[in-house]
Amino acid sequence: MKPILVINSGSSSLKFGLFVDQGGDEHLVVRGNADAIGSDRSTLEIFDEQGNQIFKETRCLDSQKEALNSISEQSAALKLEPPIAVGHRVVHGGPHLVTHQRITAEVLATLQRAVHFAPVHIPAAVEIIRHVERVFPQLPQFACFDTAFHQTMPEAVYRYPIPEKYFAAGVRRFGFHGLSYASIVHDLGKDLPSKVVIAHLGNGASLAAIADGKSVDTSMGLTPTGGIPMSTRAGDLDPGVPLFLIRNQKLDTDALETLLNHNSGLKALGGTNDMRELQKASDSGDSKAALAIEIFCRSIAKTIASFAAVLGGLDLLVFAGGIGEHSSTVRASVCDRLGFLGIALDAARNNASSAVISADSSKVRVRVMSTEEEKQIARYCRVLLQAHS
Ligand code: ADP
Repeated sequence: MKPILVINSGSSSLKFGLFVDQGGDEHLVVRGNADAIGSDRSTLEIFDEQGNQIFKETRCLDSQKEALNSISEQSAALKLEPPIAVGHRVVHGGPHLVTHQRITAEVLATLQRAVHFAPVHIPAAVEIIRHVERVFPQLPQFACFDTAFHQTMPEAVYRYPIPEKYFAAGVRRFGFHGLSYASIVHDLGKDLPSKVVIAHLGNGASLAAIADGKSVDTSMGLTPTGGIPMSTRAGDLDPGVPLFLIRNQKLDTDALETLLNHNSGLKALGGTNDMRELQKASDSGDSKAALAIEIFCRSIAKTIASFAAVLGGLDLLVFAGGIGEHSSTVRASVCDRLGFLGIALDAARNNASSAVISADSSKVRVRVMSTEEEKQIARYCRVLLQAHS
């Protein structure tokens, strides 16, 4: 069976999936997640391939390492075949790690040197990679970067209009959610047209312009804080805003970071970062919630229109991520602004979150797709593993 274990570690959560090669593609055997790591109410849940919960436990998991130990114990108890390799999702690898690759001592050292590009994510990834190395020294490990997909962007997109010495220090547009975009491009297969925009709308949210399967522009930049407003992140601001906050409101770097990443976006505007709650509040007349949704949808529509300019037209628009997949309200509000591009939704299809939600008369096809980042990591790892054997 030769399973590959995929690990996606966040600041206080760890998702995992065990994949086997079946009929030329990766097939999920089990998946699970450990949440609220670092609290005494951490939960570990494991689901089988049909999505049935086969294990649940609530206890104290102090660290990512402890969560992984617990996952290994449960995997043994469930008599799951042990993995032959481990693939890690790494959000940011800095300027020198931008292709999916096997993790060597040198790669790990380079990743550690890039810590200032993602001060929360990189240490968590390094900790779990080192732990796997200690516990399963025989297993090859691979790093898959969210930035890798965007390496095809032209210089006119990845360069910022600031002096070159800062570019030399790594200040450039990297772009994120690359594993999600790659998964959608893979799943579109033969149905992938030339000019595509994908809107990945989850808690983190970004859009990518994709020409003939390759990223040519994206809304996030040096870090995942940029682009459209998100659940708790501000997205793009006039650069004068942080300067003003530093000078006039006396915010230091940490306070600014917390503000821009954790206390801005939908949460700051509408009082909650949960789109379902915002929609409920807006429907019952809460004007702040309505404004938050309006700002969010307007920004997405503006980004799609600008990407249509980048692509020289638009054949397909894909909505993905928790909001993209489930919020017919957001999709309608975005698409209603884009009629001039030839986008027309079919209301019944949109309300049902059907696979294709555009009207038959629409010049642009509009789809709703689920993204499978872990499966995409398993695909990359299988290829890398074969190249190494
Ligand atoms: P993450 O980026 O953390 O993986 P998700 O992709 O799961 O997040 O997206 C989370 C967002 O999706 C939340 O804002 C949540 O409210 C929203 N969401 C999930 N289901 C629905 C729904 N049925 N209607 C509207 N929004 C939804």
